[in-house]
Amino acid sequence: MSALRFNELRGEEVVYAIHRQDRTFLPDREHCPLDPTRPGGPQTEIPFPAFEIAVFDNRFPAFEPPGGAAEVIVYSDRHDGSFATLSDARAEALMWVWRHRYEELGARDDVDYVMIFENRGVEVGVTLHHPHGQVYGYPFVPPVLERELAADERLGGCASCELLRRELHDRERVLFEGDRVVAYVPFASRWAYEAHVVLREHRASLLDCDGADLRELSASLQTLVRGYDALFDRPFPYVMVVHQAPTIGDRESGGHVHVEFYPPLRTPDKLKFLAGSEQGAGTFISDTLPEETAVALREAIARAA
Ligand SMILES: [Zn+2]
Ligand SMILES: [Zn+2]
Ligand SMILES: [Zn+2]
Repeated sequence: MSALRFNELRGEEVVYAIHRQDRTFLPDREHCPLDPTRPGGPQTEIPFPAFEIAVFDNRFPAFEPPGGAAEVIVYSDRHDGSFATLSDARAEALMWVWRHRYEELGARDDVDYVMIFENRGVEVGVTLHHPHGQVYGYPFVPPVLERELAADERLGGCASCELLRRELHDRERVLFEGDRVVAYVPFASRWAYEAHVVLREHRASLLDCDGADLRELSASLQTLVRGYDALFDRPFPYVMVVHQAPTIGDRESGGHVHVEFYPPLRTPDKLKFLAGSEQGAGTFISDTLPEETAVALREAIARAA
């Protein structure tokens, strides 16, 4: 069982999941636990010879009932590839899986916040290369989301709606836009190639999204990650996080579906490290301007199209 301790100085929870030390670390190609279980082959996490998208409880969970949830979402039974290389139909189906996990986990009393995310690349600590993401059901509302809810208060309404309005007005950092979804590098991005993919209309959660919303969301996410891979002509590491409304029953809670990407690369071979100022002061120092990286990213997206 993992345990929570409240860090008073930071005002935040820390999770101790010490069993995770034993988790599978970059197994060789023949022993991938996210592959299907093929006849005569080794038993994997997924007891089927083929599958489209698989969801199961993380065997090395940071959270588990009655103190939250941790799940793995495998995007494909094919080991090679990435979110960027999924077919349109599979990426769209993944959006419905996300929606379903949000609904089911969010309905639980021990889950106050459902966070869907993907870590991609060894640069962000990936231990399995097979294309997959994760879902954490937090038994509390984590600090980043509390800050977004505080931004709603500060801006006197939905912060995502207001920031989208500003980005569409400035235009400089907009990467692309469709009828329902807009992608931009935020005005005050923390990472050089950070990007946010936002529903144009206010949608508190994926449950408020219709089929057309989800279709355009999946297409937009793929457009962005294909652009990322084209940017430095190499698989581009990132952390991808879906932010939406908390799932606390009685609380009148804010939230607006958006997907944030935090890529650690600032050049083809240089990583941004979180060091003195970022760790000790919580203040990011960037050596590129969002307007400049948006230009480079727009060009990469055009090259990848
Ligand atoms: Zn695999
Ligand atoms: Zn909104
Ligand atoms: Zn956010």
